[in-house]
Amino acid sequence: MKNYQHSVSLDVAKCKGCTTCLRRCPTEAIRIRDGHAVIHSERCIDCGECIRQCSYKAKKATHDGLDKLNNFRYRIALPAPALYGQFDNMDNIGYIIAGLHAMGFDKVYEVARAAEMVSAYTRMYLRRKDIKKPVISSACPVITRMISMNFPFLCDNIIPLLPPIEVAADLARKEAMAEHPELASEDIGVFFISPCPAKVSYVKNGFAGEKNNVDHVLSVRDVYFVLIEKMKQIEEPAESTEAGMIGIGWASCGGEASAVFNEHYLAADGIENCIRVLEQIDNENIPTLDYVELNACSGGCVGGVMTVANPYIAQARLQSLKRYLPVSPNSPVKDEIPESAFAEGMVQYNPYNLLSDDRMEAMRMMADIENICTELPGLDCGSCGAPTCMAFAEDIVKGETNADECVVNMRMLFHDFLEKRRNGNSGDAVPLEKWMRMRKDTENAEGKTDGGNV
Ligand code: SF4
Ligand code: SF4
Repeated sequence: MKNYQHSVSLDVAKCKGCTTCLRRCPTEAIRIRDGHAVIHSERCIDCGECIRQCSYKAKKATHDGLDKLNNFRYRIALPAPALYGQFDNMDNIGYIIAGLHAMGFDKVYEVARAAEMVSAYTRMYLRRKDIKKPVISSACPVITRMISMNFPFLCDNIIPLLPPIEVAADLARKEAMAEHPELASEDIGVFFISPCPAKVSYVKNGFAGEKNNVDHVLSVRDVYFVLIEKMKQIEEPAESTEAGMIGIGWASCGGEASAVFNEHYLAADGIENCIRVLEQIDNENIPTLDYVELNACSGGCVGGVMTVANPYIAQARLQSLKRYLPVSPNSPVKDEIPESAFAEGMVQYNPYNLLSDDRMEAMRMMADIENICTELPGLDCGSCGAPTCMAFAEDIVKGETNADECVVNMRMLFHDFLEKRRNGNSGDAVPLEKWMRMRKDTENAEGKTDGGNV
């Protein structure tokens, strides 16, 4: 996707080039060049895994600051349900709602309320006969982007419904305009309080097209530190939550899927587990399922890198917070999905790893990659600055690096050089690619090769 706006970035000054993030990036988007990490924009899915892994805090999530509140006459907060799990010893979500008002928000519309509506729409959608199963949730933007880049045959499995963030923004804006007819739409600022950078990218890139109603995305972490001080000053909150168990359950892995009231579901968390599940669905190597919920972060949204609390502790807090709440106080008026909730075509196949637009050229490059791979040690050590030998070979063929970055082969080359010196023939300096060809020719002459590669 051209001009994709990312929310994960690198502070070059802090990066030590240690390769930790390189090994953990699920899309092989990171390379080490000139001693520091570089993120390949077209491959990055903003999962935040590299932020989680970097001990030097060189990777960061970009999001909007609280100063953006000053740009609007009327401000609406959309707290993600994961926010509720951040606070210790809190037994009433009303404190959070009152605290958000004290921070300067004129209205609070809980995303958990919209999540209950989306759960109801999903149950209606699953009753249809003309849909491709298993239906995959559209709620996690990391997963939808991963599918759009890597799984062309699964794009149609994604439920064509807007995620709760978008439904909440739409309903909140409409309510505000009805309550305050004196306001123009541009006077109203809608702020999503997000646990993860992927939802920042979702908003920045307008995934919902014209239906995108969120103006800015704040981080749970930024809001937490201001909110906790405001909450301390509240003796008894005037409001209480309008969400129920189902809506708040969306914050943790399994909460969304269990709300479809259908036992043929699967819920997975952690990006590597999710990729494995997608591969199995793609290969039809999975039991019959109606619904699949995939959360890129461990534990679900509570595990996002813009949160404060340990995700499993946050999950335990949410369990106890929702214990006495009604199951689902927010449900659609009619037993049909409104047109406004649909987002047809939101996910389209958009491959990132095409070697060339020219098919013949791409095939030639693929053959070159395979040939170079046969000459590489296959250790996937990362010392060359690429995550695997295959990725390194691809980078060589694309002209982004050269073969003598392979330290293992360089070592062999050096030994070869020393050997020649010992024999009184230091020889000319031989580029590694040439040396690799020479070595292969020698092996061929000695009958050592498999004879399959040109
Ligand atoms: S983990 Fe990545 S970003 Fe962090 S220091 Fe190591 S190479 Fe740099
Ligand atoms: S955010 Fe995820 S996909 Fe992007 S560079 Fe970091 S680990 Fe890779």
